[in-house]
Amino acid sequence: MAKIALVTGGNRGIGLETARQLADQDVLVIVAARDYGKAVEAARALRKGAHQAEAVQLDVTDAASIAAAAEEVARRHGRLDILINNAGIISSSPDGRPSSQPVAEWRRIFETNLFGLVETTQAFLPLLKKSEAGRIVHLSSILGSNTLHETPGSPIYEFKAVPAYSASKSAVNSYTVHLAYELRDTPIKVNAAHPGYVKTEMNAGAGELDVPDGARTSVALALLGPDGPSGKLIHLGQVLPW
Ligand code: NAP
Repeated sequence: MAKIALVTGGNRGIGLETARQLADQDVLVIVAARDYGKAVEAARALRKGAHQAEAVQLDVTDAASIAAAAEEVARRHGRLDILINNAGIISSSPDGRPSSQPVAEWRRIFETNLFGLVETTQAFLPLLKKSEAGRIVHLSSILGSNTLHETPGSPIYEFKAVPAYSASKSAVNSYTVHLAYELRDTPIKVNAAHPGYVKTEMNAGAGELDVPDGARTSVALALLGPDGPSGKLIHLGQVLPW
């Protein structure tokens, strides 16, 4: 029986590539996108490669949309094996100083990157509990690592330009630790992924990794075996500090 995965923000960037790589491993992938047409288009493109792919509408900032997506997956499959909380946004504010970056911008980013992720996870948990080995992957970032932010010489010590985004990913890391602890006596594993600095639209094409390599961490965490870690922040097999 094929594993079933749902990828939020699965219509482009790291999410779409994660869906493709999971489908390559014979996972039935549900592409979730806030624009249903884009989800349908991505799923159709994946199916051309003889993959199993479906579409669902899911806006992580819309409670009704999240609930409807969870109901739809329950109706179609009755369970979910892998949830990839991939949808995310970065700041578009020209002011990246923590002393003055507008609070409205902090709210906008947290709405998607944290509250949307928490609400989506809570909605799909009943379905993940029906899986033999549920896996939850939160797309975090090295920018969420407070340890690396305050360590001179670390790759991010001198990069403080997106404080609200970084804090939202620190909060995702914290949620990862808390949820993994709550689920410690279940087969479900919960991890945070740093995909790398990846050449996607989020970075206007800048980055160190091509998109296929940027999806590898999410895919590896989605397919973890029973001895794999839970409650960690991981990049390409390496545990990063919180
Ligand atoms: P991207 O190319 O900008 O793609 C972002 C995806 O999130 C798009 O599919 C977008 O959908 C979706 N999204 C945004 N808001 C949404 C909402 N309210 N509901 C549902 N979907 C929504 O970004 P990416 O580089 O692939 O990033 C994917 C994840 O990796 C993000 O969480 C990001 O923070 C994280 N990350 C990326 C990098 C990097 O270097 N690229 C580094 C560290 C972490 P639309 O097409 O509808 O806008």
